[in-house]
Order: sequence, then C-alpha cells, then structure tokens
Amino acid sequence: MRVLISGASIAGPTAAYWVCRAGHSVTVVEQAPGPRTAGGHAVDLFSPALKILDQMGVLPGVLAKETGTTSGTFFAPGLKRPVEADIERFVHTIAERHVEIMRDDLSAILTAATSNDVEYLFGDSITVLSPDTGEVSFKHVPPRTFDVIIGADGLHSNVRRLLFGPEEQFSSFLGAYLAVFSLPKILGLDRRILAYLDVGRLAATYSARHLHDARALFLFRTERPLAYDRHDVPGQKNLLRDAFTGLNAEVDRWLEELEHTDAFYFDAITQLSLDTWSRGRVTLVGDAGYCPGAVVGGSTSLAIVGAYVLAGELAQAGNDYARAFSATEREMLPYVRGSRSLARHTARILIPANRAQVWTLIHGTRLISHLPPVLARAAAGFSNQGLRLADSMKLKDYNGPPALE
Ligand SMILES: Cc1cc2nc3c(=O)[nH]c(=O)nc-3n(C[C@H](O)[C@H](O)[C@H](O)COP(=O)(O)OP(=O)(O)OC[C@H]3O[C@@H](n4cnc5c(N)ncnc54)[C@H](O)[C@@H]3O)c2cc1C
Repeated sequence: MRVLISGASIAGPTAAYWVCRAGHSVTVVEQAPGPRTAGGHAVDLFSPALKILDQMGVLPGVLAKETGTTSGTFFAPGLKRPVEADIERFVHTIAERHVEIMRDDLSAILTAATSNDVEYLFGDSITVLSPDTGEVSFKHVPPRTFDVIIGADGLHSNVRRLLFGPEEQFSSFLGAYLAVFSLPKILGLDRRILAYLDVGRLAATYSARHLHDARALFLFRTERPLAYDRHDVPGQKNLLRDAFTGLNAEVDRWLEELEHTDAFYFDAITQLSLDTWSRGRVTLVGDAGYCPGAVVGGSTSLAIVGAYVLAGELAQAGNDYARAFSATEREMLPYVRGSRSLARHTARILIPANRAQVWTLIHGTRLISHLPPVLARAAAGFSNQGLRLADSMKLKDYNGPPALE
C-alpha cells in the first residue's frame, strides 16, 4: 500500500516506522522546513512507549537525551522555607518506568530512524484530500493518490479539519492555559525543577545538562476561555505577563526574557472528544485524533502506543484499511477515555484553585516522595484507572517482520 502521513513529530515518524516495517511504502509531509533539532518542552515516556521504542532500536538514543528531573523545589506565598521533593521517587509511585525527554530530541531520533526508508516532504502541507479515492493535493508538490492517509499533525490537525470540519465541535477547554518559552541557562539547573505556586497559577523552570538553555513553563486558570488571536504572539505574551507579574521576583525576571525569546508557545489546555477518528481511507493518530490535554494527560505515550497499534492493525488486516481502523479504535478507545479523565483530574490538582489545594499539592508531593512506594501509592489512592494508566496499557504483539536497518 502507499501510505501518506501528515506530521513528523512523535506519532508521525513512529507510525511511519511500523507501517514501513510491515512492507508498505510511506511518505511523510511536514509543514516545518526541516526535521526538528532541539527545543520544545519535556515529555513523558512510560513503560508501554519505552517498550515500543526499544523494539524500534532507538531506546539507547532516547536514554542518552533523557532530561531526568530528579528533584524539585517548591515556593509559595506564605511558606517560610521552600519545600524540597524527590521527584524521581514521586514519579515511581505512578509508574514502574519513566523517561523524560525534550519533545524535539525525541522527534529528531524518530525521524532519523526512518529517514532511509521513508520519503519526507518538509515545508509542505495537504490542501485537499478525498477520503473515498485517496487523492491528495499539496501546497507545493503535485497531487498524488494514496491507499491510506494518516493525520499525525497534532492538536490543531489540518487532516482532521479537512475530514471532519472545524475543531470547536470536538474540543473542550480544561479551564487553564499553558505557555512555554526558552530562558538563558543562568540558574545552572540540572535534573532539578523550581516551581512557584499560587492559587490558580504555577510557574516553573527546568533544564538538563545537554541543553544549551532552560525552559520556563506557566500554567494558569481562567474562568472562561480568553479571547485572543492565535497568530498574535505579542498579545499572548501580554496575557502571560498579566497572569504572572508579581507572583515572585524570580518569576518577574523570567517574564523579562519574553522580549528576547525566539521560542514561545501559548495555548489553551484543550481536550478532544472524538470517539471515532477515521473516515474512508483516512484516519488520525496521536494528538490529532485524541489529545487528552497537553501536560496533564500522558499524551506522548498515548501517541506512540496509538501509532504502534494503528500500524499493527494495518499489518494484520492486509489491505483492508476499514477493518484496521475499526480495530485500532476499539483497541485505543479505553486508553483514550482513561487519559481524558486523568487529564481533567490532573489539571485540577496541578493548578490549585485555593490555598488549601496549594498546601496539599506541595506537602502531598513531598510526603509521597518520602514514603516507600507501596505506602505512597496507597496514600495517593492511585489505581490503574487513574495516574497509573499510562503504565497499564497492554501492547499486542503484532509479530512484524525484522526491524528496519
Ligand atoms: C507546552 C507543552 C507541554 C507538554 N508537556 C507534556 C508532558 O509533560 N508530557 C507529555 O507526555 N506530553 C506533553 N505535551 C504533549 C506532547 O507534546 C504531545 O502529546 C505530543 O507531542 C503528541 O505528538 P503528535 O506527534 O501527536 O503531535 P505534535 O507533537 O503536536 O506534532 C504534530 C506535527 O504535525 C505538524 N503539522 C501541523 N500541521 C501540519 C500541516 N498542516 N501539515 C503538515 N504537518 C503539520 C507539526 O509541525 C508537528 O511536527 C506537551 C505539549 C505542549 C504543547
């Protein structure tokens, strides 16, 4: 089969690897001018995703770029002293295995692993597609026809819009905004996160030894969605300043860097509600189909597992893409729904709504990080349906042919 994938971040190259390994010919179209190099934000990989990366032969490269945040220092108004927490131990209460890596490092590794076997069209995008015939037009290259088209183009997916219409029909606002930007590496942080917490807002910074800069991460609540233009970056920076100025002198210093930063991201924390994400020859994978909410829903692991399952079901169904798409949706839907409820729950905890919740978050994290794992899990009330969901995803063995060279 000839397979077209839109998007070369995480879900796209992972799907490309497995679809190619099943013997199909794969083209990936990516709107960015070239492969991602370094940047973005830290993302989480849990056991199932790590097993898939291991089978792809890229795990050593992933571990070499691990950011490995092991400790955290929390500040909050009214706290006499900052509170220290063992983040590594805390994470082990929710996952047997966990690796944190910058999204763009992971993307570069996955793209490199497929570059010999997959055709990459950078700096291009789909303009028209037919789910019935597989005919596709692009901004730049001439039209082509594909047997299967996969949208792996993220939360604001172009393929989803062409297939199902405007995003607003399927998206819900989780009550908070998210911003990330690059900071000079002046605090010398390595494997440590500094977080300033207050009612309705959280500002944090982290870095890692191999990064040339640090990242500042901001989360804040609003009662209603804010009215702003997605292309107006200066306007978004002002919204961020309005939300955080005065929280702390250190945070004010980070905000001053907004003038100079070249890497800035701002968005609502948004959840998609599609329970079916395929039509005709076209399907979606990763954030494009089932983003549970950035930062709060374990979406990177979900994207990797989703790509593996889709490719595995395509391999098992032969050329019967319709059967493969329904089997993928059946397989993924319980995890997608679990991730949605996890995301809603985490968004409530991570951005405290009142002083008592600020206290609970800070001291609860410290307490749990000091207990033995069994007790910590009990204390936190974690279950397979909750925060341990990412670890609990069961991988089918699709018995594919040997790994790509
Ligand atoms: C600030 C931030 C913090 C996050 N923190 C975490 C975290 O802590 N843990 C975690 O697990 N996850 C986190 N996430 C979520 C994580 O980044 C995503 O779940 C993951 O990257 C999903 O991968 P994806 O390949 O599905 O989509 P994306 O990574 O969004 O990739 C989509 C790709 O499609 C491309 N594209 C878009 N439009 C087009 C088009 N028209 N034509 C061609 N290509 C196109 C984009 O350029 C991009 O390369 C965070 C996300 C953000 C934004």
